[in-house]
Parts: sequence; structure tokens; C-alpha cells
Amino acid sequence: MSDLQERARALDTADELAPLRELFTLDDTVYLDGNSLGALPRHVPARLQEVLTREWGELRIRSWGESGWWTAPERIGDRIAPVVGAAAGQIVVGDSTSVNVFKAVVAATRLAPEGRDEILVDANTFPTDGYIAGSAARMTGHRIVPVPPAEVPDALGPRTAAVLLNHVDYRSGRLHDLPALTSAVHAAGGIAVWDLCHSAGALPVDLDRHGVDLAVGCTYKYLNGGPGSPAYLYVAARHQAVFDSPLPGWTSHADPFAMTPGYEPAEGAVRGRVGTPDILSMLALESSLDVWDGVGIEAVRAKSLALTDFFLECVTAYVPEGRVTSVTPAAHAERGSQVALRCEDAEPVMGALIARGVVGDLRRPDVLRFGFTPLYVGFADAERAARLLADVLNGSAAPVA
Ligand SMILES: *Cc1c(COP(=O)(O)O)cnc(C)c1O
Repeated sequence: MSDLQERARALDTADELAPLRELFTLDDTVYLDGNSLGALPRHVPARLQEVLTREWGELRIRSWGESGWWTAPERIGDRIAPVVGAAAGQIVVGDSTSVNVFKAVVAATRLAPEGRDEILVDANTFPTDGYIAGSAARMTGHRIVPVPPAEVPDALGPRTAAVLLNHVDYRSGRLHDLPALTSAVHAAGGIAVWDLCHSAGALPVDLDRHGVDLAVGCTYKYLNGGPGSPAYLYVAARHQAVFDSPLPGWTSHADPFAMTPGYEPAEGAVRGRVGTPDILSMLALESSLDVWDGVGIEAVRAKSLALTDFFLECVTAYVPEGRVTSVTPAAHAERGSQVALRCEDAEPVMGALIARGVVGDLRRPDVLRFGFTPLYVGFADAERAARLLADVLNGSAAPVA
């Protein structure tokens, strides 16, 4: 056994989160794509079967009340809340991240002081956020200003209504300084909207502590909610009374079953709801969140950094110099939970890796992405991934049977 393999074994033995891996349905592939689709917790299929057979099959319409379907969006929001550092009553689950970006950006312009006409958007944003913000800007008479997150402080001014930023860059894995940027936005009188897709479940976000105004995120990445599981919207308690949703659907009405012609918003985060919740996906998400019981996000973060450090160390040791370059920052304060390696022939390389049981993904043209989900990825996985990557790059990989 090599030195790095021995270290991996020792690190796995000392890892207090290691037993959590047993909660997931995994095989002997090294799964480093949990930043795109989290793995399935083992207990979820039985729970979904019960939802189908008992709640839908037998109780039918009664389940809206008796099985708690109607209140699922806010109940599940309260389960996500501790993971992102929010007190209860500020998160509602439903719709996609894209739709929640629309709600949040339009609502932010309505919360902002009168007369401001600019929306600053992360210049490197995941595309959907930029597309939606662009449409929201046209509808509300604002102008989009694309800005790299680090340059936001210089771009802020008396015209800034809202700022939409990705907490972790989906391509490079760079973590942006949420506390400092949120403070800067506030100092300029604007509203800070954060997209937590690549940070929630991987590192502490502390929404309340840092005074974030609005936030959105998906639940199928580090929160393991399942393919297309519903996203969430955070509305800070101090804004809820005036939060004005651009999609005021009937389920956000103060008295939805009164079926009145006039709209009157419900109190609290429920105001962010739109239409009938997608119960099957939502209850799969709710069940999957059980894996977080008793798990502290600080411990998850510590393991995430140790894993990505160790993976980078193995890559440096194994991969021929100059063959790949990390585009993920070395500084812990600037790193999310993934490692992105620039590699000229990224596409065939990732194909060969996947064929050998190391599943990462790629962002064209030249970025290999390796996501490290601390709940189920271990140090031996990191070592093996780096070793097989080196074999593929050396042309010495064993042929795939
Ligand atoms: C994954 C991701 C999304 C996905 O949006 P959907 O509406 O769920 O397709 C949006 N924004 C960011 C930053 C993401 O990483």
C-alpha cells in the first residue's frame, strides 16, 4: 500500500461522519457527482411507497390534511432551515430554483428603495439565474449589470436595487464571501439575493447571522432530495410583511379556500408559495432530510475541506506535472466542496474515468468537476479518484472490460 493509501485509510478510520455512508444507496463506484445529483438515502423508497400506497392510494383527498400534505412546503422549509442557518418560519419549499430566482429578484426590486434601476448579477452565474434576472429586469424596468462577485463592492452605488450572487461558483468551485458582500450591498442600500445551490448542505451559510435578505437554492445537489426535487425560497423575517411576490398564486393567499377574487397574502414565508405543491417529490425530499438528524454543518465543512485538500494532494502526487491545473482556490475561505481541474482533453478523460468507476462530470470545454459530498464520500475514494485520473492521463489505465 502506498503512503497516500495508508493516509487515506487512517483518515477514514478517524472520520466521525464515515458511518453516514451506510445511510445511502451506493455501490463501489466513487461517486463525485453529488454536486449535481445527490445519492439516494436507503430509507426513501419505503417512505415513498407508503406515500403512494397509503396516503394517495387509500386516503386520497384526505391526505391534504391528515397526511400533512398542505403544510409540507413550510414544514420542509423548517427542516432545511438549520442547515443554512435560518430560524424557523423563513423558508418555503416548492418550484424550481429558476422559478424562485424569479420570485426573489422581482421581490427584491420591490423591497429596494424607490428610484433605483440597477440589478447587479454575478458575471459567472449559473446561466438560468442570469436569464431569469434578465427577464425580471425587463419586466420591472431595471438594467442588468454583470459583475464578477469580487468586484461587486466597487460596482455598488445609489442606483443599485438588488444584487444576485451564487454563493459557490458552479464551475470553479470558488466560494464567495457572503458576509462581506452582503454587508457591502446593505451599506449601499440594496437588497442581497443569494443562490445557495452549491453551498447548502456542504458548508455553513448562516443566512440569519449575516443578514441575507432573500435566498434560493435547490435540494437535489448536496441535500440529496432526488432528481428535480423542489427548491426553496428564504425570505428574512424582517422583510416578510412587505414581501411582494410576482407569482401570488392561490396557495400563498391568507385564506386560500375562501376562493376570493381579491388577493391577500398569507403571513410569513408561506407568502412565497405559488400553486399546488408537487407532493411526491416534496415528500421524497422530506424523507431524505432524515440523514441530517444529529449532523452538524461545521463537521461537514471540516470534512469537506479535508477531502478536497487530500484530493488535491493526491492529484499533485500522481498526475504528471502540467497535465491538469486546479481552478478551485487553494485557500479554504474561497473553496466550496468541489475541485475543478482544467484539462485540455477534459471530455475523453472524464469519459474514461467514468468507465473506470469514478463518476465526476465536466463543464465544457475544459473543466473536470469532482464534487465531494462529505456525508458519503471518503478519503479512500479521493485517493482512488486521483490515482485513476493519473492512470488515464498517463495512458496507463487498465482497459475497461
Ligand atoms: C443547479 C443550479 C441551478 C438549477 O436550477 P433549476 O431551476 O433547478 O434547474 C440554478 N442555479 C445554480 C447556481 C445552480 O447551481
